[in-house]
Amino acid sequence: MNERWVVVCPYCNGACLHQEISRLPVAQMTLWSDQYIHGAPGPQWERLAHCAHCQAWMWLDQVDTEPWNPTEFTTLPMLTPMMLADWFDAVAQGAAEDAEQQHYLYRQIWMQGNHLRREAPSAAFSEVEPAWRAALEHFLPDLDDPRLTVELLRELGDFEGALAACQGADLDPEWLAVQRARCQAQDTRPFVVRQVPVPQGG
Ligand SMILES: [Zn+2]
Repeated sequence: MNERWVVVCPYCNGACLHQEISRLPVAQMTLWSDQYIHGAPGPQWERLAHCAHCQAWMWLDQVDTEPWNPTEFTTLPMLTPMMLADWFDAVAQGAAEDAEQQHYLYRQIWMQGNHLRREAPSAAFSEVEPAWRAALEHFLPDLDDPRLTVELLRELGDFEGALAACQGADLDPEWLAVQRARCQAQDTRPFVVRQVPVPQGG
């Protein structure tokens, strides 16, 4: 069963249930070129949600929590999992309180947008692409990880910029070779970097 915690909203003192992200068990852990890891072991938690009572944004690593006791807390509302549109709202509504939180919001937009096109190009991605692109063009100058900079330039279709960023970058030569080939092919989609078995018990 998914792990759950009771979180208390700092604005209205309302209690809500926070549940780890539900996932199907997978045999392989997959690292994607946008640094998204599919099948990472251990519980995964979203860090932001709307309070189910007053709708305020709550950073869940900053609020009071208590273990969930099913016999005592049977009527608490569950926090609604964040969808791509919610991450856009969070940025637009200024939910981030510092640069680190802002970085996290943009990373969610980036990776969740890519979820729509990891396996194949999709109409769903095309629909959100203008907003996704506008957000990530805004995010690009804040990146301080050369792997993310190369990847985002390529995903945004700036192949010359991505190739230039590959120059002199102290990165895995194999990874750089794939990035260069993708730029030559004018391919903007994320790709699988590697797959490893999920550790036992994970
Ligand atoms: Zn509240």
